[in-house]
Order: sequence, then C-alpha cells, then structure tokens
Amino acid sequence: MNLTGEQIIGNHFSKKGSKTFQGIEAATGQAIATHFHEATTEEVDEAIVLAQKAFRAMLKNSDEKRAQFLEQIATEIVGIGDALIEMACLETALPNPRITGERGRTTGQIQAFANFIKDATWRKEIIDEAMPDRQPLPKPRLVQKQIALGPVAVFGASNFPLAFSVAGGDTLSALAAGCPVIFKAHPAHPNTCEMVGRAIQKAAQVTQMPEGIFSMIHATSHEIGGYLVQHAGIQAVAFTGSYRGGKALYDLGVKRDIPIPVYAEMGSVNPVVLLSEKLQADGENLANALSQSVCLGVGQFCTNPGLILIQKSDAGFLELLAKSLDQISLGVFLTQGIGQAYETGSFHLDQHPAVQRMTQATIPSPSLFVATAQHAMAHPEILEEVFGPSTLAIVAEDQEELLTLIGRLPGQLTGTIQGTESEIAAFPELIEELSLKVGRILLNGFPTGVEVSPAMVHGGPFPSTSDARSTSVGTQAIYRFTRPICFQNFN
Ligand code: NAP
Repeated sequence: MNLTGEQIIGNHFSKKGSKTFQGIEAATGQAIATHFHEATTEEVDEAIVLAQKAFRAMLKNSDEKRAQFLEQIATEIVGIGDALIEMACLETALPNPRITGERGRTTGQIQAFANFIKDATWRKEIIDEAMPDRQPLPKPRLVQKQIALGPVAVFGASNFPLAFSVAGGDTLSALAAGCPVIFKAHPAHPNTCEMVGRAIQKAAQVTQMPEGIFSMIHATSHEIGGYLVQHAGIQAVAFTGSYRGGKALYDLGVKRDIPIPVYAEMGSVNPVVLLSEKLQADGENLANALSQSVCLGVGQFCTNPGLILIQKSDAGFLELLAKSLDQISLGVFLTQGIGQAYETGSFHLDQHPAVQRMTQATIPSPSLFVATAQHAMAHPEILEEVFGPSTLAIVAEDQEELLTLIGRLPGQLTGTIQGTESEIAAFPELIEELSLKVGRILLNGFPTGVEVSPAMVHGGPFPSTSDARSTSVGTQAIYRFTRPICFQNFN
C-alpha cells in the first residue's frame, strides 16, 4: 500500500498543512519514510461538513446496509495482509503474535457490531399502547427507541494500534449507531493509522455509504484535537488514553455553548486484593502469574495491575513477587516518551519518603514498591498510575484497614480478588466495597485481557472514565452514541 501522509477527508485526500512529522520505529528510534501533514482547521471544517451531510443521508439507510459497511471494513483490513501487521509491529515494537491477535480481536468486534445492529432489538423499542377510553383522559400510543446522535470525534490510544485505534471499538460503535466518525490519528503509529483509514474509506465506497461517513486527520499539536472537540458540528467524543488528555478534552466538551457527551476512557491502577488462605496455598504460583500480568506488553495496559492490597500478616509474599519480577527482562516501550514517563514515575516513587522499592533498582526494569495503608491514605499521590511494568503494594494492618483504604481509592476500571472460596465468603464486605469503585470485579484472575463480549464493562467511576454509566468494549458501547426518542400517536 502506497502511503502519502495526507488527511482522509471523506472520499478524497488532503495535505494543506505545511508542517509534517514522521512515524518512528519504536525499537530503533529511526524515522519511517512517509511525511505526515498536520491537519489544518480548514481540513477539519471540511471533514465535519461532509460528516453532517453523511449523517442526514445515514438516517435514510437501513441497519442492514450499515452492517454490510462494517463487515466490509473487516474484509478490507484483513485484505491489507501482512503489511499491516509488519507496520504495526514496527511502529509499536509489540511482537507479531500480539499484533496478529489484536487484528483478530478488531475484526471480531467489527463482526459483533454488525450482527448486533442486524437484529432490530438493538434499538430497544418500548411500546405503550394507546388507551383511548382511559378516564379522565385518554392515553396516547407511545413508542420509544434509540436514534444516532450525529458526527462523533474519536481519539485512539498508543498501546492498541488496531483494537483501540482507527477501526477500534470507539469508531465501530459510533459507525454501528449510524454516527459518522472523524478520527484523530495517534502520532505514535501514523502509518498503521493510514493503512486502516484507507481500508475504512474503501469499505465506505464499496458499500456506497455517503461521503463523509469517515474521515481521519493527523496532528501532533493539541490545538487541532481541541478544535475538533469544540466544533459545533461534533455531537459526541470518544477518547482512549491518558487522564491528562481525557480530562482536557472532557473539559472542552462540557464548556461548549452546547455541551456534548465526552466519553473518556483513561488510566487506572486496577487494585488486586490478595487474601491469606490463597497466598498460603498457592503463593509461589501467584507471584509468578502476577508478575507476568504486571509485565505483559511491557506493562502498557490500562488494566495493568498497578496496585496490590495485602494484609501485614501476609507481607512475606512480596519478597516472592519481587524475586519473580526481577527475573523478567523487559521489551521495548511503545514510544520514547512512554519509556521516559515510566522512568520519571518510578523515580518519583523511589524518592518518596513513604515508599520503598522491593525490586532491583536498575532502570528500565519491572518495579515493585511498597507502602503502608496509613501512608497511602496520607499521600494519595503515590496511588497515581505509572504507565508501564510497575506495581505498588499497600500493606494494611487488617481487614478493616483494607476496607477503609478501598473506600478512599479513586474510581478504577477493574478490581481483583485472589482468595479461596471460603475466605471470600467470610468477607462479603470486600466485594461490596470494591463494587462501588470499579467497572469490573474479577475473582481469582488477572485484569489484563478484556473479553469483547456483550456483558463486558470496560469503564468505571471517575477518574478511570468520565462517565461510569458506559462501557467502551462490547456491543453495549453503541449506546454512548444514541439517545432515546419518543414517538407519540404514531401507529
Ligand atoms: P494520550 O497521550 O492521552 O494520547 C491519546 C490521544 O489523545 C493522542 O492522539 C493524543 O495526541 C491526544 N491528546 C492527548 N492529550 C490531548 C489534549 N490535551 N488535547 C488534544 N489531544 C490530546 O494517551 P496514550 O499515550 O496514547 O495512552 C496511554 C494511556 O492511555 C495510559 O494512561 C493508559 O492507561 C490509557 N489507556 C486507557 C484505556 C482505557 O480503555 N481506559 C485503553 C488504553 C490506554 P498526542 O499524542 O499528539 O498528544
């Protein structure tokens, strides 16, 4: 595929911006050939005008036709073949099996959305029949169903170059709902973005979708992203990435003259509670499995287990965990910036008077830090996400202090309990307390690995997301981009 580094504006390409940037080979730091043009506000305007027109045209299109478009996207992505896998590996340094698996996950979730909208029940129709003879007043016939919001701006994350990027869950759930998408490509993998963007553009043409159903812009400056979010033509935003980015865009979205929903899926430290009987029965295996989870994908997962909660009587387990982490050699970070942020974050924890390092101090390496619950509650800054293979163990005096600490935690994507059946049953307050903090509770598993399925909740209370009532993974993600409408007196 011949890449040109241009914006995809509906069916055409555009390179009005004079500033350019290049993608980087994550493993070597070498620039990749294509020069990407930074989008101009004029190009964003063009994409939004086309998206608005496409939205009106889409209202007349059937769900079936839109499902064909989604299926064609999957076909076009697979059609790119190995070149897509090779480019994504080059730009992220993620290994081939991981990227190949991610492509399968991406096409699988596209098919899931296509199947979902082929079944008319997705519109959640509710019918209240008329009661013309009701006294003192007749009751009208009421029909409620879901309709699409309008053009959506989507921002993808660096750590999933396929599944949370151009054709990821956010884009697909918006398109499935009938909302045109303007995607802001991630500068950490612009070549991969262009390949997938072209695949969506082609799928739209093959299935005769209205021009503007999909556009993609490139930018390394935050001004263009901010401009997109504040544009009156945009009706909703989906963001996956850091707390800082998500909160900045959320604030812009809600401060508009006409505020819009901004679904920001941000970071999380994903507490893992380790209970005594389980540790006694299976400590060594647990240490190995937990350290693998901490280091999976060089720790660059929003579901990375970055916080371990343990009681003082069990703290000996942390020696096992540190030993296991010290044996793992790290791969390459997605970008130099993420690598540096990991070093800085680890350094700050290392220097913090309330925190001690348990793993070796060589950087970059996996990190286990430890602090008491009292210190963690007095210094909540130590609980912030260090994106990468780092985890902080908090040692509580007893179960009561464990619960108090959980009660003080900010919102999380996940919470995990490792325990035997009997000790979990004997401590019901734990599930109760955790459920108030997280979007997903796991028993005896690890939070890394998010199943794409209808019951999945990949979301959680603020600050893990900006809206705990939604999920960004699974078919229910579609309802972020619809609203209910009631038809009265329609037969
Ligand atoms: P990021 O730096 O926030 O970038 C995400 C996208 O938003 C990029 O296109 C970025 O452009 C843009 N952006 C960031 N700040 C912005 C601002 N103030 N105004 C306009 N645009 C802005 O995140 P990342 O490095 O890709 O991903 C790492 C983070 O994502 C981690 O914290 C991880 O936990 C989180 N994550 C969360 C989930 C989830 O589902 N909750 C999934 C994956 C990752 P620039 O690159 O040009 O800044």
